[in-house]
Amino acid sequence: VPPETQPSTQTAIVRAATRRIADARDLQLVCHVSPDGDALGSLLGLGKALERLQKRVSLVCPDPFPEEARHLPGWEQVKLPQDAAGQDYDLLISLDCSAPDRLGAVYELARSAGIPILNIDHHPTNTAFGAINWVEPKAAATAQIIVKLVHALDIPIDVEIATCLLHGILADTRGFRTSNTGPDVLRTAVELVDCGAPLSFLCDRIFNRRPLKTIHLWAQALQNLSLEGRILSSEITQEMRQRIGYLDEGDSGLVNYLNTANEADIAVVFEELQDGQVDVSLRAVPGFDVSGVALHLGGGGHALASGCTLPGPLTAARTRVLPLLQQAWETQAPAQ
Ligand code: AMP
Ligand code: MN
Ligand code: MN
Repeated sequence: VPPETQPSTQTAIVRAATRRIADARDLQLVCHVSPDGDALGSLLGLGKALERLQKRVSLVCPDPFPEEARHLPGWEQVKLPQDAAGQDYDLLISLDCSAPDRLGAVYELARSAGIPILNIDHHPTNTAFGAINWVEPKAAATAQIIVKLVHALDIPIDVEIATCLLHGILADTRGFRTSNTGPDVLRTAVELVDCGAPLSFLCDRIFNRRPLKTIHLWAQALQNLSLEGRILSSEITQEMRQRIGYLDEGDSGLVNYLNTANEADIAVVFEELQDGQVDVSLRAVPGFDVSGVALHLGGGGHALASGCTLPGPLTAARTRVLPLLQQAWETQAPAQ
């Protein structure tokens, strides 16, 4: 396959993306590992939209579909990579993934089969790994870009598509509270609500509901708070999870809670994974940028919310990350 010339202007990218989709018969859509609300909403929203074009669409999530998002219409159709592996497809659409490793096993399968990737994402750290890269770092959510794509494809937005895409926008803007929430994303949200998306129901599900075991996990993790300079950190160990009987991965939002402390500018949660690696979740208050540290450590993300996965044990990850955050803080802190 000859290397493709990358379209460069926004119009050319949109045209190239819609042409690729129009020309494809069987599509596979994939979101990132440890999917969040934007990844899942984009996957299901675009999946439903493409079904309207009479395409064969398979939806793949590298991890089991999280329980807390099972109110999204169509979630039962989402497959694990191993269950979708036998299916042929001629275009892979990657959603909300900043780098190939975020797609899990699906990336290597597509690459070795020479299947082109349409990379749709909003991470400033995106590595442009697709044949076409529709990457808009200014977009507050990948779901916001999907709305543009659905318009470009002339697909009417029904209540199910609207629900999935609004879910994505709400999740990534934390309910329109992030600094990248501007008039565009608000207008898009109004459009989705006009199409029937249940705003207050989604807000309730995303922000107000959690299993009690999450609160127990936080109670444990909050015992280990540590403030160094203006960096607040905590950790979640496998032992804590065993004690509570909560073996799923993820910090369930703990890092966002730490990031509310007045006395800190940067929050970090170190989470020991089952395989011994350590998941690092980083948050900053506006004016700081943790994405550089995440990228340097092989991860990625946004200025105010980033992450990476490091070899264990926990103490080794802490020793690596905390000095880098301290350094970043020193360069970024406004002069007194
Ligand atoms: P989290 O702390 O897991 O909620 O992730 C916050 C942000 O960082 C999200 O935008 C993720 O896409 C990004 N992120 C988290 N972990 C990684 C990773 N291992 N590699 C690349 N990006 C990551
Ligand atoms: Mn995401
Ligand atoms: Mn996102």
